[in-house]
Amino acid sequence: KPTPLIAGNWKMNGLAVALSEAKAVAAGLEGVSARVAICPPATLVARAAEALAGTKVAVGGQDCRAEASGAFTGDVAAEMLVDAGAALVILGHSERRAGYGETDAVVAAKVGAALRAGLEPIVCVGETLEERKAGKALEIVTGQVRGSLPAELAGKAFTVAYEPVWAIGTGLTPTTPEIEEVHRAIRATLVEQFGDQGAGVAILYGGSVKPSNAAEILHADEVGGALVGGASLKAEDFLGIIKAA
Ligand code: 13P
Repeated sequence: KPTPLIAGNWKMNGLAVALSEAKAVAAGLEGVSARVAICPPATLVARAAEALAGTKVAVGGQDCRAEASGAFTGDVAAEMLVDAGAALVILGHSERRAGYGETDAVVAAKVGAALRAGLEPIVCVGETLEERKAGKALEIVTGQVRGSLPAELAGKAFTVAYEPVWAIGTGLTPTTPEIEEVHRAIRATLVEQFGDQGAGVAILYGGSVKPSNAAEILHADEVGGALVGGASLKAEDFLGIIKAA
């Protein structure tokens, strides 16, 4: 079993004062064996990396562009995240897929960029409520896995995060058997694509994870960690989740 990864996605939340929460997380990790990462807004990546240097908490970006540099106003390159001190990057989050038209092909190109720069990608997949109601959750999710994970991931460190769109920020979560069903389907797809390596890739769950549901979710079959939004903003909540792993 891979070491679980608990990653916090701060989304567009957090000014410099929020770094005190990140530092409190780092200070509370004694005896924790899970890997821990915090992905703050791009403006805070460098300061978070500085504040967390020498601790167990890694820093990640929330997105990057596929190109290394160029006339792309407002965008951030994978190389720039590395330069700022990031070790990971979230790619293909549903908020990017839905809000910025990121297709599987775009996500796959960004994954390639992350690898080129030396970042560990956390690649997000997940169905909408309509897709689940139509009985298409497994088809959608495995299709996203196939389309978003390029062959160049072979031999490289990466994780997949299953985030049902309808569970994000809603307080709703799938049942444990529903999570396990999707995670097993993702596992089978990863093994198809990457053989033995695919059997060892951590598959995170994301969507309304909080201290009170973390233990059950994190101990479900094929769940190798969590991608946490709202509950990663407060050290106490995030530590509660980390300690449930
Ligand atoms: P919440 O934990 O706020 O539901 O967000 C999940 C998420 O989108 C993490 O990437």
